[in-house]
Amino acid sequence: MANTKASNTDSKKTPQASGAAKGNSQLEQFFHEALKDLYWAEKNLVTALPKMEEAATSEELKKAIGEHLTQTEEHVNRLDQVFKLFGWNPQAKKCDAMQGLIEESESIVEETEDGTMTRDAAIIMAAQKIEHYEIATYGGLVQLAMTMGNDEAANILNITLEEEKEADQGLSAIAESGINWEAEQEVSEDDEEK
Ligand code: FE
Ligand code: ZN
Ligand code: FE
Repeated sequence: MANTKASNTDSKKTPQASGAAKGNSQLEQFFHEALKDLYWAEKNLVTALPKMEEAATSEELKKAIGEHLTQTEEHVNRLDQVFKLFGWNPQAKKCDAMQGLIEESESIVEETEDGTMTRDAAIIMAAQKIEHYEIATYGGLVQLAMTMGNDEAANILNITLEEEKEADQGLSAIAESGINWEAEQEVSEDDEEK
C-alpha cells in the first residue's frame, strides 16, 4: 500500500534498505509496533499534561508544562506523518510504560500538599521521567528509520527528539532556579502539628 509521498517503497538506487528491509522486514514490523506504542504514549500525554499543569504550584512550572502540551500535540501530528511515510494508517497500541509513568505522576500529586514547592519538585521529577522515556524511544526510532533508509521519517522523529531534550533541560533549569531550594524550606504537616 504505497503512499505516493513515500520514498521508501519505490526508491531505486539510493544506498539504503536492501533485501528484506524493503518494506516487510522483521525490523520494519518492530518499528511499526514501536510507533503505535509511542503514538498511544503521546496521545495520553495530551490528556495527562493539563492535570499536571493544574496541580503545579508555581506559574513557572505551569507555563513550562503548558508549553510542552502544545509541543506534545504537534508530536502526535508528526507521528501521523511518520505512519503515512511508511504507508500505514496511524494506530495506537497501549504503552504500559507510559501508563505507569502517568499513574506515578498522579500519585505524586495525591501524596504532596497542594500549593507547595515540594509538589512542584515532585512533579518535575515525574515529568522528567516521562521525557527521558520519550527521549530513549525517539532516539531509538530515529536510528531505526535511518537504518531502513527512510531519512524523511528519521528527520521528523529527530525534530521531536530535540524538543523532548529541550523540555527535559527546561525542567532541570526550573528545579534548580529555586523550586528545589524553596521545597527544602517547607515544613511537613506532621511537624507543624507537634
Ligand atoms: Fe512528546
Ligand atoms: Zn511503551
Ligand atoms: Fe515530551
